[in-house]
Amino acid sequence: MAKNTRITATTKLLGVIGYPIAHSLSPVMHNAAIAHLEADYAYLPFPVPPEYLEQAIAGFAATGVQGFNVTIPHKQAVIPFLSEISEIAQAVGAVNTVYRTERGWGGTNTDVTGFLAPLYIHQRHWNQNIAVVLGNGGAARAVVAGCAQLGCTQVQVVGRDRQKLEAFHRDWANSPLSPTLSVHLWEELPQLLPQADLLINTTPIGMHPHNDASPLTLDEMKLLKVETIAYDLIYTPRPTTFLQLAEKQGAIAIDGLEMLIQQGAAALQLWLGQPVPVEVMRRALKEVLSFEV
Ligand code: NAP
Repeated sequence: MAKNTRITATTKLLGVIGYPIAHSLSPVMHNAAIAHLEADYAYLPFPVPPEYLEQAIAGFAATGVQGFNVTIPHKQAVIPFLSEISEIAQAVGAVNTVYRTERGWGGTNTDVTGFLAPLYIHQRHWNQNIAVVLGNGGAARAVVAGCAQLGCTQVQVVGRDRQKLEAFHRDWANSPLSPTLSVHLWEELPQLLPQADLLINTTPIGMHPHNDASPLTLDEMKLLKVETIAYDLIYTPRPTTFLQLAEKQGAIAIDGLEMLIQQGAAALQLWLGQPVPVEVMRRALKEVLSFEV
């Protein structure tokens, strides 16, 4: 429960920029942790239209904002306004967390940390594992970086648009993470699935309110090995149809909630410079999601 929600003349500001931003769960999660810590901070949503991005960031610098999260559509557009960017954000090509440095704003990407957190619980020989990633959008970039950090022997990215897939492939060619990456059209899935140790859905297929949809059919799921990890980045509903079908085939299911919590926890820890109460953030999110779905 929140201990202290007082805003005073010394309260420091954090927040999230996006457009639209009204759907964001970040304010709930961060303010729950801030209140629990009795930290003199407040975290606010800022709807920033793309044409005002530069002014918004300059305004944040001028008004003492301590740091902010970045969501769609600004994750790439924010980069030119930063004076430094972490290696992981460079590899992903997107920033979701901005913090103050002596020379200006610094940017990093905590989605990779968030994605990896629930995987580290599982003892695996990751360097012998093949990952199949469904989708080639923004979240897929954090997932590919995460799989490269795990040391997966191969990362196979599946998409529906050959040109976008080829562009995605080119983007990783000079990456310091250098994943062994191949790109495939959906028709090739029956050849890929039997070797998959990790199957990750980064598409929005199956997201609320389209709860019955799944990126894979039951027949395709039957091609999976037992104990493949099926990971859906979606967190509403929990579980998705994709995860229910995968579990029926003996797969280990991971949904997107922990990724959401852990990317937020990593950002807050960076801003506050102290450990943050992850369980408080988890509880706050679960509570708000139970009302929403
Ligand atoms: P995005 O950039 O729009 O990418 C979506 C990808 O899915 C694209 O490659 C798109 O293909 C593909 N796709 C969409 N509809 C499809 C369909 N019907 N059939 C086949 N492919 C389809 O979105 P994003 O930011 O990566 O987010 C993707 C999902 O991840 C969302 O559900 C989001 O909520 C979730 N997510 C969760 C977390 C978390 O913390 N748990 C973090 C980030 C994202 P095209 O490019 O060909 O259109």
